[in-house]
Amino acid sequence: MCTDNMSCCGDEGMGLAELFGSNVFNDKVMRERLPKETYKALKETIDKNVPLQPQVAAVVANAMKDWAIERGATHYTHWFQPLTGSTAEKHDSFITPTTEGGVILEFSGKQLIQGEPDASSFPSGGLRVTFEARGYTAWDCTSPAFLKEDAEGDVTLCIPTAFCSYNGEALDKKTPLLRSMAAVSTQAIRVLRAMGNTTSNRVTATVGPEQEYFLVDKEFYAQRLDLITGGRTLFGAPAPKGQELEDQYFGAIKDRVASYMKDLDIELWKMGITSKTKHNEVAPAQYEMAPVFSTTNIAADHNQLVMETMQKVALRHDLVCLLHEKPYAGVNGSGKHNNWSLTTDDGINLMDPGSTPEENAQFLVILAATMKAVDTHADILRATCASSGNDHRLGANEAPPAIISCFLGDELTNILNSVAKGQKYCRKDNSCQFLKIGVDSLPDLPKDNTDRNRTSPFAFTGNKFEFRMLGSSQSISGPNVALNTIAAEVLDEVATRLEKAKNVNTEIQAIIKEFITKHGRIIFNGNNYSAEWEKDAAKRRLPNTKNAVEALKSFVTPKAIKLFEKYKVLSKEELHSRYDIYVEQYAKHINIEALCAIQMVKRQFIPSVIRFTTDLGTSIAAVGKGATVQKGLLAEVSTLLESAAKKVKKLEDEVAKAQKISAVDKQAAAYRDKVFTAIQNLRADIDAMEGVMPDDLWPVPTYSELLFKL
Ligand code: ADP
Ligand code: MG
Repeated sequence: MCTDNMSCCGDEGMGLAELFGSNVFNDKVMRERLPKETYKALKETIDKNVPLQPQVAAVVANAMKDWAIERGATHYTHWFQPLTGSTAEKHDSFITPTTEGGVILEFSGKQLIQGEPDASSFPSGGLRVTFEARGYTAWDCTSPAFLKEDAEGDVTLCIPTAFCSYNGEALDKKTPLLRSMAAVSTQAIRVLRAMGNTTSNRVTATVGPEQEYFLVDKEFYAQRLDLITGGRTLFGAPAPKGQELEDQYFGAIKDRVASYMKDLDIELWKMGITSKTKHNEVAPAQYEMAPVFSTTNIAADHNQLVMETMQKVALRHDLVCLLHEKPYAGVNGSGKHNNWSLTTDDGINLMDPGSTPEENAQFLVILAATMKAVDTHADILRATCASSGNDHRLGANEAPPAIISCFLGDELTNILNSVAKGQKYCRKDNSCQFLKIGVDSLPDLPKDNTDRNRTSPFAFTGNKFEFRMLGSSQSISGPNVALNTIAAEVLDEVATRLEKAKNVNTEIQAIIKEFITKHGRIIFNGNNYSAEWEKDAAKRRLPNTKNAVEALKSFVTPKAIKLFEKYKVLSKEELHSRYDIYVEQYAKHINIEALCAIQMVKRQFIPSVIRFTTDLGTSIAAVGKGATVQKGLLAEVSTLLESAAKKVKKLEDEVAKAQKISAVDKQAAAYRDKVFTAIQNLRADIDAMEGVMPDDLWPVPTYSELLFKL
């Protein structure tokens, strides 16, 4: 076993294979440590959703405990994902007192399967009143248990769990994700069966989430209340240099950052997270990590661990990892690219175009169904990425826009259009033919679509779709719940039609034709950042919702409720509770930003500027007539000071007013329209002051220091 981080991955990567997953109670460990029968029974539960017998759980729990204790664990925790978007854990030790005054180490099947944290402080959006505080955590055995190690060497056994109320309502992000995965599997299998597939039994939604982040020196971070309280700078004049030289993207990684990334990889690998790619991103001090894709459920758990580990490991390097969507004005913000596909248990990627007519037909059906799903529920997809942080990206002159469209590339678009319009499809060599789905082979589609469009929010990239709207700090669960459920709905429709069809291929042809005719407006292969696209999209009547408060409403429309209830993913009550929580979170975030801005201005910026005016006054008195520059500066600074003082008062008034509004949606709208605007107006004065103030009198680190001194 590797214990020393650094020695593990020496020159030839020695020990890496052994290190990988060493903190995971994975299949290999289970096979080694569980009696054959227990292992088989557990596998049935994991793979086929067969109910778990209590006696099996008891044996698994005991083996898990022994394994964890051998690796230094003293505690276990049911690890879950409440609606705050982060993770929660309450640690219990394995000790049970004996009558002789000693202890034995115990972990029962019941303790493994179910926990009962005092959950009254987690947001429930009215689903669980505080006097009925009980929430239950239930073991999700499809995501392996793992050990978390902290810098001091403390080890905790973490059991991934779902979190529900006493009545079984979902209070977390995992429960609907598992439900949505089941829904899409059921419907996709129906489609495959109707098309003659007899071998596949399950379809799994797979995801590879690319994670962007910023690093900042801890010393500078510690001097900025805005970064500490909200993860983004509320003030800051631009540095002389931004990202205009395009020298950061894929640039050579600095030693200090490389050393951080190496440690990060090691920590992730130990937990079985397949960290694969790392590179500099577009903005200064911005980076990205991408794992190899996995089952959505595991990808979601892992992404939470990735974010947590990124932050933890950074501190060890005297760095701070910023996951906020927009830490700095004027340079790119951070997102997450959610690469999503559907794969059968016998290894068929349904988003792979394939090479035979049958494979092509299957692919085109899935593709057309995805187009329909995304067009029908673009508003829901948009809502799943709505947050105060992401408002700085979506629809705010940054990638990607708030309008959802699909990039397919010219070749695929032409194929779909020719089927839809009943026209001949012309290949590159100018040979043209009517394409008969299920009979003719498609031309070889570029596997790795090299011309793929980086500006598209939902791009087909050869064998998967890349949904690029997600904010860097958000859980990937919500967007994937939506993707799986909207796909399930259309696949359900397709399956019903194919099951009744006299001739399946003819029906497929008709389905593709209908879907592309009705929903082809969602396909856009051009530049999504251009002003023309916004106009074009308006003509196509595609939604363009630029702020979170508005976007979130799509969770509670009759259309959304019908969709999520039909596939038993979220009930009306669960949707309403989520809506309330997210809208409230929006308001709370802006409220924190406002209070922080007020404090920084009143306690840091205004006093510093006053000091400067005193200096200037002293200089003017001493120099007399010749002090023209000083006088000019004094006038300029005094004007800004007066203006800032007024604006901070205005901000205080707006916050006070917003705080008094009781309806959550109206309150959030006030924070968006009044409070946020007041913060921005105040910022303009403060940033202008920064531009004329002496360096040594400016009370906080500047953008140059935050972005370039690393
Ligand atoms: P890029 O930055 O060019 O988009 P990356 O290599 O950084 O590409 O990320 C691509 C991501 O897509 C990786 O996480 C990869 O594992 C994932 N991926 C590849 N195939 C699939 C698939 N079938 N389903 C889901 N994700 C996939
Ligand atoms: Mg990408």
